[in-house]
Amino acid sequence: MKIRMQSMPGNHSELLQAIEAVVGKAGILHGDALVGRSAGIWSGNSLQALALVRPRTTDEVSRVMRICHAAGQAVVPAGGMTGLAGGHDSTAADIVLSSERMNQIESIDTRARTMVVEAGVILQAVQQRAEQDGLMFALDLGARASCTIGGNIATNAGGVRVLRYGMMRDQLLGLEVVLADGSVVSSMFDVLKNNTGYDLRQMFVGSEGTLGIVTRAVLRLYEAPLAIETALLAVPTWDKVMELLRYFDAALPGALTAFEVLWRDFYELNTGPFSTLEPPLETEAPFYILMDVFISDIDQGRTKLESLLTTCLEQGEIVDGALAASESERQRFWQIRENFEPEQKKFDKIYGYDISLSLQAMPAYVELVRQQLTRRFADAELFSYGHIGDGNLHFSIYPGQARDRDAVDEIMYSPLQALNGSISAEHGIGLEKKAYLAYTRSEAEIELMRKTKRMMDPDNILNPGKLFDM
Ligand SMILES: Cc1cc2nc3c(=O)[nH]c(=O)nc-3n(C[C@H](O)[C@H](O)[C@H](O)COP(=O)(O)OP(=O)(O)OC[C@H]3O[C@@H](n4cnc5c(N)ncnc54)[C@H](O)[C@@H]3O)c2cc1C
Repeated sequence: MKIRMQSMPGNHSELLQAIEAVVGKAGILHGDALVGRSAGIWSGNSLQALALVRPRTTDEVSRVMRICHAAGQAVVPAGGMTGLAGGHDSTAADIVLSSERMNQIESIDTRARTMVVEAGVILQAVQQRAEQDGLMFALDLGARASCTIGGNIATNAGGVRVLRYGMMRDQLLGLEVVLADGSVVSSMFDVLKNNTGYDLRQMFVGSEGTLGIVTRAVLRLYEAPLAIETALLAVPTWDKVMELLRYFDAALPGALTAFEVLWRDFYELNTGPFSTLEPPLETEAPFYILMDVFISDIDQGRTKLESLLTTCLEQGEIVDGALAASESERQRFWQIRENFEPEQKKFDKIYGYDISLSLQAMPAYVELVRQQLTRRFADAELFSYGHIGDGNLHFSIYPGQARDRDAVDEIMYSPLQALNGSISAEHGIGLEKKAYLAYTRSEAEIELMRKTKRMMDPDNILNPGKLFDM
């Protein structure tokens, strides 16, 4: 089918009718029907789109893409819209293609430990389905109740268990995608090994919807632990933070699954007057470690961890510590890390950052950016925390009244070049960081990315303007 693009803005009825013929009336929302649709869970804005298209099957996605391809129509893929880099941002001229009606868990194979899902399945639904059979889906992150598997794949999501299980790309066995011209590439392989040329699946992982639309996936599952122990530790120095990572990883082989660090500023914000949580530890410290240990022998596991923590306290490696006594206490410890309400209550604007660099370089980098920020904007405030076991540092920054995003970005990103760090550890580039991509990737790499994009989407209709400009 050939649909001629109308040059007059707003006159797209032919295109929308053609799409409606594929997805049905309930599958396409435009005009007044879009009122009330949000542009993302943290965005106070309404969704901007020529239409929100909600296919139910891969075949429908393929036919919609064929129509958009013929019309040269820009398409922005969207999942749970929890992304933090502006990857799902859209304009009033875009078709937003949502996976919200492709939300079926198709099957689980408990012996092969695999699950086949559609792209719009919510991460938490995958986790819960695996748990029903004593299995575990290893990806876990704060947005678990809203983000989708398709979005997780498109952003190569990280989260709190990367230290032990890797990122989203490591949880993926098979993948099905629809390309810009509507062709379907299906590689729904369901075993670990497949050395047959280029690993095409992985090219789509982290591509932020610019190379193809994820429609289905085969996920890898693991045996669930018998129990999870969570400890919160107050640590006197950064050197001891680094030593403790090795110490616990070596003493609990394969069992240390999360190693998060909260700087004092972040810990105090999240246990202070703007929070409903009390500080669980009596002693203050510059750093707090929140760690999860997966237990395979309930009695011995907890006893061993208690004994390790006692040794750490006696030797001055930590100045205080608590092992969660119940599941509810475990959840409360994690709330200190994952609850962003206090910063939203205290400040009217927060900029988030997600960088990576070597553990050795972290404390000096944090101090440098703090100094530069407060020298430039006296009323700015900085809160640091992150998945430190993976070299991943997050910042919540109150930029002060000036709200000069470009200046704050420059302060945060420019030191990373000399430190061999990355401007994005896990959230991706989207719109927000594309001006800084060259701080982390070489010209040759960016040019190869552009060539790949040109080859796969010559008309630049899939999520145009994200990651880099053509
Ligand atoms: C409270 C909170 C905590 C978070 N914690 C983490 C964390 O620890 N680690 C982490 O990595 N991220 C984290 N995030 C970011 C976010 O949750 C992840 O990036 C997540 O993977 C996005 O999934 P989504 O379904 O919401 O995707 P969306 O936000 O809808 O989209 C993200 C990108 O993927 C593309 N996309 C979406 N679906 C598809 C599809 N089917 N096919 C092709 N492209 C698609 C979009 O175009 C966009 O570029 C957090 C976010 C919040 C709000």
